[in-house]
Amino acid sequence: MKPRQYLPLAASLGAGAVVATATAADLAPYALPGHLLATCVMATGASSMWLARHITDLLTGASDRCPECDFSIKVSGVDAAESRRWQEAVADHPRHHLPH
Ligand SMILES: [Zn+2]
Repeated sequence: MKPRQYLPLAASLGAGAVVATATAADLAPYALPGHLLATCVMATGASSMWLARHITDLLTGASDRCPECDFSIKVSGVDAAESRRWQEAVADHPRHHLPH
């Protein structure tokens, strides 16, 4: 994994940890059974981690589109050479689906 790819992962893990901790702190006064507290903390933490990961992918990714049809891909965390290879692969994909 390249160093630039660590930032989205670290951001998503951090967001998940912060939300999970906040959820645990919010629910602590209610004295919930351990399994219910763990379920709530894991659900909110995982959801926040997933959302943060998708937001960072949207902000850091690049989209390549076939010039002849509506096929497209989205890549993130790649260098210029690898991005160029993906552009060529998208432009030369085997089956073009013409828009209706
Ligand atoms: Zn195409």
